[in-house]
Amino acid sequence: MNKKFRVFATCDIGEAIDLLRRRGYEVEVYPQPEPPAKSLIVEKVKSGVDGLISTLRDPIDAEIFEAGKGTLKVVAQYAVGFDNINRADANRYKIPFTNTADVLTEATAEFAFFMMGTLARKMWPAEHLTRKLKWGYWHPYLPFLGDEVTGKTVAVIGTGRIGLAFIKKCVGFDMNVLCYDPAYENHGFVQAIQEINDLRHARGLTREKAWIKYVPFEEALRGADFVSVHVPLLRAGESATPTYHLFNEKNLRLMKPTAYLVNTSRGPVIDEAALARALRENWIGGAALDVYEKEPLPVDSPLRDPAIADRCRLMPHFASAARITRLSTDPEKGMAGRCVQGLIDVLEGSYGGDVTKMPYVVNKEAFAKTS
Ligand code: NAD
Repeated sequence: MNKKFRVFATCDIGEAIDLLRRRGYEVEVYPQPEPPAKSLIVEKVKSGVDGLISTLRDPIDAEIFEAGKGTLKVVAQYAVGFDNINRADANRYKIPFTNTADVLTEATAEFAFFMMGTLARKMWPAEHLTRKLKWGYWHPYLPFLGDEVTGKTVAVIGTGRIGLAFIKKCVGFDMNVLCYDPAYENHGFVQAIQEINDLRHARGLTREKAWIKYVPFEEALRGADFVSVHVPLLRAGESATPTYHLFNEKNLRLMKPTAYLVNTSRGPVIDEAALARALRENWIGGAALDVYEKEPLPVDSPLRDPAIADRCRLMPHFASAARITRLSTDPEKGMAGRCVQGLIDVLEGSYGGDVTKMPYVVNKEAFAKTS
């Protein structure tokens, strides 16, 4: 390599940084665990870095691209979601940005599944009984009961990578699945799951034959015991079917009063004020959240209301937070590895320098040849 590339990383992503340094890169890592101020990112980009490693905490828009005019060549996002990056601005400045899809799919899907079980079986309030010395007796139904997951019906909203992986976990629990996705219906996948359901039934492994089908959104909400959300955050104007406040008062009221809502996608997909009311007034049975409209969750959030604590699980944006998923330097296994590989592809001109062929670049449309 004849040029020494300069990179600024807005947070430490572990050993993958050394991997870049071993290739001769000069990498500066923002040393604090909190996100840097946007003005600092602007300053670093202005100083002429070739690459920026960003996370979902960093707003990446025209101000950043303008600061990097003539020098910034790539933004490598350490996440699959990229709602913090203004795609139109990146395209206008012709800066490719990459993400870390696929490697966090299973970790996120299993976390959503575990959240569903934790919520429904009331594991958090149950452990509190033990810890707070309130476990006074064994009783058939006191002080409370949970609901089984096995054999129930789950609505999966968004059947992309994580939604499909989540469905695979549900098969082992004999669940029926209502799928909804306005843009991507994977009927081959649905057929494969149905064949597995049929086989499990034929071999006597299940008493009832489980089923799976695509249905309209309202039908999915009305028919489900659990609703798990796996959509990207798309604001008005970014999609024909935006997901911002998809779960508002109207749609929450479509759910069964006993149904549980699980969200590992992005916070603004749910109108939190409406959800807090839904929980307080028992329009739905409960909710388990990993993501919020504002992160970290503000101290005065209505979701912190102790009156709903028994049916509202609050995780700290933790669904992909597993060792291999977060830190492996192998681009087939870890977000760190995939993030730096995306950066290397662009800076070192892999794939003959053709950005449209680079697997981790998201905004390929900005580089399509117009003949
Ligand atoms: P993906 O692009 O593979 O799948 C998203 C699916 O949502 C697509 O099939 C798309 O057609 C569908 N969709 C779009 N608009 C919709 C709408 N209005 N209603 C229903 N479906 C709609 O993405 P993925 O890899 O499965 O990730 C999904 C999202 O999960 C990411 O964008 C990210 O925001 C979030 N995520 C969160 C964590 C976490 O730590 N909590 C981890 C990973 C991903």
